[in-house]
Amino acid sequence: MEKNKIVVANLKMNMSFGQIKTYIDKIRTIETKRVVFCPSSLYIPYFLGYNYGVGIQQISNKIEGAYTGQISSKQAGSMGLVLTLIGHSECRTYLKESDDLINEKVKAALENKLNVILCIGETKEQREMLKTSYILKKQIISALNGLSKQGLKHVYIAYEPVWAIGTNKIPSNRDIEDTIRYIKKIVEKHFDFNNIPVLYGGSINSKNIEELNEIENCSGFLVGGSSLKVKELFKIIEVALKE
Ligand code: PEP
Repeated sequence: MEKNKIVVANLKMNMSFGQIKTYIDKIRTIETKRVVFCPSSLYIPYFLGYNYGVGIQQISNKIEGAYTGQISSKQAGSMGLVLTLIGHSECRTYLKESDDLINEKVKAALENKLNVILCIGETKEQREMLKTSYILKKQIISALNGLSKQGLKHVYIAYEPVWAIGTNKIPSNRDIEDTIRYIKKIVEKHFDFNNIPVLYGGSINSKNIEELNEIENCSGFLVGGSSLKVKELFKIIEVALKE
């Protein structure tokens, strides 16, 4: 079993300001940076100053300047944020983020000392057409293109099958284990970098976390929907972070 797992809560575009204040009141007791919250960017300042980590859901590929509506990794780093998600399937789909753009974002984040959670995963159709390996390989190679070994030390890969996000469907432990092994192998082969940490994400909840936590080579979890319910999230954290 992997030690020092992390749990990343992706709150997405949820909760009003009032709800956020109640939420923060409940999570402020968390005393470890191995739990990282990624709220809507608008609410980030309210999450700062406690002992958990804070990350950002989305950053620009640009560093500074006339880019209306965007937030840079330089700005995020200067606020004390520890990581950024990049390549989430919702951004790939709704914002039409390309592999090249994702690669630029990864580079911008690392240059500005933000750790990266690179999200990858296949759609249901791709899985049914037996294209999972091909898709994951393509996503990894393009996103990490041109990174130094020093840069790779600050990258986690989150394996999030698109068909498992918010659907209550999850792959078997065996499937996830095999996929994580495959992801590590691709990074070893193409970037000469061993044992990149890989997280699992997709429909994690308080009922399936015990079983998911048995996955041998998994470095932690990216949690969406269940992170909105503090009780659910606390159970996930308790299981995932126990030594
Ligand atoms: C996600 O979108 O990153 C995610 C894991 O969502 P959910 O937990 O809701 O499936």
